[in-house]
Amino acid sequence: MARYTGPRCKLCRREMTPLMLKGQRCLTDKCPLKGKRKFPPGPPRKRRAKMSDYAVQLREKQKIRRSYGILESQFRLLFADANRMKGVTGDNMMSLLERRLDNVVYRMGFASSRSQARQFVQHGHVTVNGMIVDIPSFRVKEGMEIQIKPNYTGNVMIEDSIKLAKAVDSVPEWLEIDFENRRGKVVRLPVRQDITANFNEQLVVELYSK
Ligand SMILES: [Zn+2]
Repeated sequence: MARYTGPRCKLCRREMTPLMLKGQRCLTDKCPLKGKRKFPPGPPRKRRAKMSDYAVQLREKQKIRRSYGILESQFRLLFADANRMKGVTGDNMMSLLERRLDNVVYRMGFASSRSQARQFVQHGHVTVNGMIVDIPSFRVKEGMEIQIKPNYTGNVMIEDSIKLAKAVDSVPEWLEIDFENRRGKVVRLPVRQDITANFNEQLVVELYSK
């Protein structure tokens, strides 16, 4: 599946919020948003008009979509799934985004960003219930065991990520982690409350309901 390959921190500037596409680097002055360019890309504007409802909805949608590193077509498909499911569409959408295998590897602390996690998956370093799954959009289910392949455990990037994940205690409750064996389990499906990021998914629902 295709992905965005342009400058990642340009998207931080576009949304005027650190999207963490470069992991913790987005919280340092390596991200232009924290450095010298605290303004959106494009030609400078003298006076910023008040954003229309549509613009507000669009910006929020782009923020959420880009945070998870997926392109519009796939995001639309995921939204359609969320819409078909029982319950609140916005909640469903966030849960489905969280259940992507690349996100799960990231949440488990084995990668410092979703794009790094995506690469681990695509390169065949991740197994689900003992079988290699190299599809980043693979949707995990309750009870599934996710593991970084044992012959890949010496990797420095993974070690660093784990150290950080342990330090900041960032692993969500719906996942159970065995850091020593680079393994984790989906103890239950994620719900909206599990996601601490400041997303207003209702705006996406409004955008797509037009
Ligand atoms: Zn950034």
